[in-house]
Amino acid sequence: MSFLLGCGRWKLSKMPKADENGTVGCILVLRFCEVITAAVLAFAAKNTLHLVKSHPELQAPPYDKHVLLSQSLVYVGGMTTFVWMFVGFILILIWKGPIIFIYGLLDLGLGLVLSIGAGLQGNYLPATHATCKHAETWQVQDNHPSFFHLAATFGKGQDAKASCNQFVTVWILAVIVIVFQMITAYIGIFCDTREQSILNPYRPFAWFVIVIFGVPYWIASYSSPRIRFGYRFVKKVIRRIRGMEKLEFEEAPKYTPNYSNMRISAPNLQRILNIEHLLLPIAAGLHYDDLLNLSLTSKAIRESVFPDGDMIYRVQKLKAYTCNEDSRFKCLYCNKQVCSDCTVVRNLPSLPGAHHMTFCEAYCSKCYFKTIFPSVSRRGADKLGCRCLLANVSIQDQRMCHACNLKDWQELQAERSKRYVQQLRDRATGADLPEGTTLECAKCRGALKGGARWWMCSKCKGECVSKIHPAWTEKVKRRVKGKEKEEKSWLSVVRYY
Ligand SMILES: [Zn+2]
Ligand SMILES: [Zn+2]
Ligand SMILES: [Zn+2]
Ligand SMILES: [Zn+2]
Ligand SMILES: [Zn+2]
Repeated sequence: MSFLLGCGRWKLSKMPKADENGTVGCILVLRFCEVITAAVLAFAAKNTLHLVKSHPELQAPPYDKHVLLSQSLVYVGGMTTFVWMFVGFILILIWKGPIIFIYGLLDLGLGLVLSIGAGLQGNYLPATHATCKHAETWQVQDNHPSFFHLAATFGKGQDAKASCNQFVTVWILAVIVIVFQMITAYIGIFCDTREQSILNPYRPFAWFVIVIFGVPYWIASYSSPRIRFGYRFVKKVIRRIRGMEKLEFEEAPKYTPNYSNMRISAPNLQRILNIEHLLLPIAAGLHYDDLLNLSLTSKAIRESVFPDGDMIYRVQKLKAYTCNEDSRFKCLYCNKQVCSDCTVVRNLPSLPGAHHMTFCEAYCSKCYFKTIFPSVSRRGADKLGCRCLLANVSIQDQRMCHACNLKDWQELQAERSKRYVQQLRDRATGADLPEGTTLECAKCRGALKGGARWWMCSKCKGECVSKIHPAWTEKVKRRVKGKEKEEKSWLSVVRYY
């Protein structure tokens, strides 16, 4: 009997240990309760079977073709059950143990015979006594009398209603006996007291609970994140179809020095500035902004400080020498190198773009899906989304260069926000990355290809659904002339007026 515990490595889960005396006790009580019903059924079924058997008209069309079979099955099932009540009662007291399983099978067999009989009877009988009021017209076809009317003419002094009641009584008794038989069969078959046995009495309960609650839960937990993901994906596709607003930036006209027209008003100063070894120590005591202002004094001075032919390298060197080394940063609004000593602090509303640039990270679809799985309902970060921005809409201290400080702050912020939008677009396509690197998923570090872009906030771990991020990218671009582009943006400041 060890095969009941599972085969090979596959073992069944443990159930509570059962008690054989409980099994035997339950079966005895059930048999005791059932015996009278079974007896009444057996003798009632005998009468109706006799009636049907002795009158072939009741078995012929237009009446149901299974009348005789159904009556026979119920009679045989009922009578055998009645006899089995006594035999089984005595046997279970003599032979217990695994043989109870055989008793259970026998009970199941009898229950099935009765079920088939009662099921076939259901085709031509009403289910309740109340319906017998219509016995005269029950299932009447053409001009034939009803089944019960005909049966009544063969019975002794009966009318159709009484005949109907007789048949229905047998059917109801059969159903009651079936219920008893099935419960007894269940207790008999699942009689193994061992915890891991497949026939442990508690196992069907566990399966029942799993099927009733577990399966719908599994379906819901499987499908709901997929539906959520699909819905959000469709939203991204819609945004892709709608396209993005075109951004336009004012380009500073390119400065080209006109050497033939250049007048040198202070030759001595010019000579000093032209020598890089002398210029750099001078720069070391200045702020970068001061150098820009110096270069604005004349075309010739500008050419000495920012020589057009050596612009990139000169700018690098000058930046390294100027400003306070420990507090160098770029002006938030014009991107020019500044330090804490050459800036002013202003109390202005925060720029949402700054938060997105600092904290929002691109996830691949797979990693994004994992963050919303496996839960039936939305929860945690997925439910709340990124909440940082709500907390971030506030007035804050912002450091800016003196030139920016002179401008109207609303215009300044509008322009900066537009640039943030562009920067975020570049980030989505990977255009802002250094040469030789590709855009990666922040979670799995896999290369991100074109397609839907999911943005997660690295600060609160919620999804950033702000429309400032592109929903979709066609192709991941690689930046080719990265450095040059950056220089260009602030070189426009070094214009000669
Ligand atoms: Zn400075
Ligand atoms: Zn500035
Ligand atoms: Zn964001
Ligand atoms: Zn956040
Ligand atoms: Zn990933």
